[in-house]
Amino acid sequence: MSAAGPGDEHTVAVLVVRDGTVPDGGDEAVAEAGGAALLVGTGTGRAAERLVAVERLWLAEDDRVTPGSLARALAPVLATTHTVVLPASPDGRDLAPRLALALDRPLLAGALTVTPTGADVLRRQDRALVELTAGGPFVATLLPGVRGVSPARSVARPMEITLPPAGPVPDARVLEVLDRDPGAAGLAEAPRVIGAGAGLGGPAATALLTEVGAALGATVGGTRAVTDAGWLGHDLQIGTTGVVIGPDLYVAFGISGAAQHTGGLGRPRHVVSVNTDPACPMTAMADLGIVADAPAVVTELARRLGVGRG
Ligand SMILES: Cc1cc2nc3c(=O)[nH]c(=O)nc-3n(C[C@H](O)[C@H](O)[C@H](O)COP(=O)(O)OP(=O)(O)OC[C@H]3O[C@@H](n4cnc5c(N)ncnc54)[C@H](O)[C@@H]3O)c2cc1C
Repeated sequence: MSAAGPGDEHTVAVLVVRDGTVPDGGDEAVAEAGGAALLVGTGTGRAAERLVAVERLWLAEDDRVTPGSLARALAPVLATTHTVVLPASPDGRDLAPRLALALDRPLLAGALTVTPTGADVLRRQDRALVELTAGGPFVATLLPGVRGVSPARSVARPMEITLPPAGPVPDARVLEVLDRDPGAAGLAEAPRVIGAGAGLGGPAATALLTEVGAALGATVGGTRAVTDAGWLGHDLQIGTTGVVIGPDLYVAFGISGAAQHTGGLGRPRHVVSVNTDPACPMTAMADLGIVADAPAVVTELARRLGVGRG
């Protein structure tokens, strides 16, 4: 009898690994898949050691880390798996539509929750929670930072598998893999987070705040007002429909403290709020409220830390 493979699982998380790095939201995708994970790419063994939610594990060490070839090679391996979950990381978002096409299934993108029959997603500019039903097997991407992870109940024993050849396939060509902005690394896990709000007034003060954050060893994220305005990327939105954080220290610059934002802060041990309004909810929940002009405070911090142009 041959050993069980990913095709014997009802639900499997597929994580694309580059040089041993777990993609953003990888552990959450594994947890959402009930602990079953297929890691594909380079350095899969090292990446597997960093996962806490994995219970059943397959490693496909393969240097074809391009979405077209991977989709074609993975399709026969996952043909009998009902639900395939990928983190909505850059590689996950690249691979998921091609994999759905290769498997001839619908893709439910940007799920908050994957259900036995489909996925719950936010639509209409995040104002409506929609329950999607796939009507059969499907592929889903799960938004990082929403679900959280609990440790696995049992330790996984990895099984190595070899992906079949994909043949010639139109594919993306990797020119260069850029390192992540160090300020953006691990927002969900960062012990010190600085929050950028609309009170910063524009992209210049937000960019300077990112430099101040890096100098202080803190990671910068923002409110939806800031990410919608394009002052920070959407992957840095903190809140119930963005990344859920859990820092020791949270410092809010020009943030009003709307429930959708504070609902994603976890339980920081210390909160500081810089705001011109002493009565705003963010300052009300802070241990230290600084009633001041946020861009001016950022400029002064930058000057003292020797960052930025001034
Ligand atoms: C379905 C849904 C989901 C959402 N999800 C999220 C989410 O995940 N995350 C999120 O953040 N939001 C989310 N929102 C939006 C949220 O409701 C708020 O609109 C948003 O958090 C407000 O961002 P803000 O505090 O930066 O801006 P504002 O509410 O406009 O507040 C700006 C603050 O800056 C202060 N200020 C103004 N000028 C200065 C100055 N010169 N110096 C200092 N302070 C100043 C003001 O007093 C005010 O308190 C969601 C909304 C909806 C409807």
